Amino acid sequence: MADQCMGGQFMTGPVSWKDTFVPEDFTREHRAIAKTVLEFVVGELLSRGDEIEHVNNELSRELMRKAGDMGLLAADVPEEYDGMALDKISSLIISDILGQGAGSFTVTELNHTGIGTLPLAFFGTDDQKKRYLSGLSTGILIGAFGLTEPDAGSDARNARTTAVLSDDGKYYILNGTKAFITNAGFADLIFTFAKVNGAAFTAFIVEFGSEGLSVDAEEVKMGMKGTSTRSVIFSNVRVPVENVLGEVGKGHIVALNALNMGRFKVGAVCIGNARGTFFEAVKYATQRVQFNRPICEFGLITEKIAEMACRIFAGESMMYRTAH
Ligand SMILES: Cc1cc2nc3c(=O)[nH]c(=O)nc-3n(C[C@H](O)[C@H](O)[C@H](O)COP(=O)(O)OP(=O)(O)OC[C@H]3O[C@@H](n4cnc5c(N)ncnc54)[C@H](O)[C@@H]3O)c2cc1C
Repeated sequence: MADQCMGGQFMTGPVSWKDTFVPEDFTREHRAIAKTVLEFVVGELLSRGDEIEHVNNELSRELMRKAGDMGLLAADVPEEYDGMALDKISSLIISDILGQGAGSFTVTELNHTGIGTLPLAFFGTDDQKKRYLSGLSTGILIGAFGLTEPDAGSDARNARTTAVLSDDGKYYILNGTKAFITNAGFADLIFTFAKVNGAAFTAFIVEFGSEGLSVDAEEVKMGMKGTSTRSVIFSNVRVPVENVLGEVGKGHIVALNALNMGRFKVGAVCIGNARGTFFEAVKYATQRVQFNRPICEFGLITEKIAEMACRIFAGESMMYRTAH
């Protein structure tokens, strides 16, 4: 362990094969987690056919509760808040296997366990974590993340949403609109961002039941059609000062740290999704017959399948090495 390189050092220093983690190194616990996720995918998702590819917020909530009961939402949460505090390899295994077969539900789950939970897990006070983190970890509460605005996408710090301290100093009053918010149709909490006095970019925990908070209609999307994506509108929403997340003026630190880990998990989802697609392609190529032979026997098709397998193997290797 002492010789093991950290972070990006593997690019600049000597690297031994002994430090390189590959899926063949999965422990018995890692394999048990993969099996549990696969059982959930087959039993709760694939068994519903096309149903999970249409927005149904009641069903999404029910499935998230089931995922919570099976521990699938708890990997990155500390044990004292009903989490499992698993290693990053386990966290990626969950995303990977969901990506392989869970369709739109993957986005619902990933958004909740990533940017819908991590801002609190990373930056919450003990009091904030006691109030919300156990609920998020078990699926009793659903988390959302509200950074994007109609005029602030990639350029997120161009946010127009404002927060003004009330005269009695007990509340921040939020006004503005967040766009494309995943799980907004049924979430309980949103980690959102506003400029205090129009300048200090700050993170807040806001409950969906707050007076003045409303959501717009579901977006009609080209893909991920079973996930809820809506605008969230803040109209004089009073947020207790205890719900400032991190420090006033340091909202970018909350946002970027949560997004970094969220993106890491998105990578695993993409690899899992590629693998699931690969299995379908191989099945089709072995069943489809042309010129009296299954098309997988033709060189061009064989080459395509081999190319897919190589690329998935390379991506999978990169992701589990990074997780380690
Ligand atoms: C299905 C879905 C779910 C989402 N869920 C959430 C969510 O839960 N919470 C949330 O906060 N947001 C969410 N988003 C918003 C998403 O994060 C934004 O779409 C993203 O930040 C990009 O912003 P934009 O769409 O306004 O694109 P823009 O910023 O307008 O970018 C448009 C294009 O310009 C390119 N571009 C921009 N700047 C540069 C540059 N400097 N150099 C080169 N190219 C550039 C971009 O790469 C892109 O191709 C979601 C979006 C979608 C589609």
